[in-house]
Amino acid sequence: DAADAADAADAADAADAVVGVDAVAPAVTDLATYRAHGGYALATALAHGEMDAEQALTALEDAGLRGLGGAGFPAGRKWRIVREQPAPRLLAVNIDEGEPGTFKDRTYLERDPHRFLEGVLIAAQVAGTEAVYIYLRDEYHGCRAVLQQALAQLQAQPPCPLPQIELRRGAGAYICGEESAMLESIEGRRGQPRLRPPYIAQVGLWGHPTLAHNFETLYWVRDTMERGPQWFASFGRRGRRGLRSFSVSGRVRQPGVKLAPAGITVQELIDEYCGGMQAGHQLYAYLPGGASGGILPARLADVPLDFDTLQPYGCFIGSAAVIVLSQHDRARDAALNVMRFLAHESCGQCTPCRVGTAKAAALMQAPHWDADTLADLAQVMQDASICGLGQAAPNPIRCVQTYFAHEVQP
Ligand code: SF4
Repeated sequence: DAADAADAADAADAADAVVGVDAVAPAVTDLATYRAHGGYALATALAHGEMDAEQALTALEDAGLRGLGGAGFPAGRKWRIVREQPAPRLLAVNIDEGEPGTFKDRTYLERDPHRFLEGVLIAAQVAGTEAVYIYLRDEYHGCRAVLQQALAQLQAQPPCPLPQIELRRGAGAYICGEESAMLESIEGRRGQPRLRPPYIAQVGLWGHPTLAHNFETLYWVRDTMERGPQWFASFGRRGRRGLRSFSVSGRVRQPGVKLAPAGITVQELIDEYCGGMQAGHQLYAYLPGGASGGILPARLADVPLDFDTLQPYGCFIGSAAVIVLSQHDRARDAALNVMRFLAHESCGQCTPCRVGTAKAAALMQAPHWDADTLADLAQVMQDASICGLGQAAPNPIRCVQTYFAHEVQP
């Protein structure tokens, strides 16, 4: 309808104005260019007391900026919780980006590293964190070079007093994207999720209160504050608020990072942002949220994609990695692939996940699934796993049994 068309136009304009993510050629923004366009003005205003932390917090809360790594926790509330903890406080930034199908952080980081670093400086000042640990996926060699160069530029010409900033390299473990496992890894130990409580906002890195953020959340901080809370909140369809960066791959004509309104459907995403399906392919199924977010059939292509909207269907959006399948694919193959991945990446510290994912992957190879045994396994993994990897591992099994039963039944 007209309102949605206007939304789409607004979002497309925003994409162009903010980062130009649809540009074919990467455009790395250096410090001089970034500053020439108002960069680091907010971080400097905070440092000089021209803006206070409460104003910054209110702006973030009003805009409704949520954690964009997958959990969707409101960013402003997180800053407030950490700010109220005793010093010293620390900031840990997750750029591990190991979720299958997700490549948004890399796309933004390669093009506009200072926008992210300004978000880091603002968060560090508002939450009162004295050191920053940036945890970068080690396979991202190009990102590391870009980030090292940007950090060197920043340290050579600091726009305001800088906290201690350390760049740490991951070692290829998917589980280190889980925030407490990331902290273990930064501390030099094997990356295994911690039991909670205590929550890391109270007892985090080296036992200190820690603000943990995904790259993209910090990337949007400057624009959210500079353009005013109404700007970010003005996007969205079907009552949802904000912009989401969908990493779209699979059988579409134009895969890539698509900055689109929260609440858009997969059909709209394919039609309006991806140039439609590839020739000879019709939509059959899609994974709305990477490995653990489940698999949905084409008849549910009109479900709004956002935090909280997919739970009734046994799915979640996670980091918004949308993988599109066609009639030439089978959902059971995608589910098996996902389960093998989870079995490989399970950290192994709890039995339901370590044994359950491996056993499920073995059972899922049978032409006809043993539904009762798989249902038992799924329940145990969901109920008794320590972290989200094991708890969400049943999603692909249940989705195939619910929506694609014809593929696995006699
Ligand atoms: Fe490790 Fe899996 Fe247990 Fe998470 S659920 S702590 S990944 S074994």
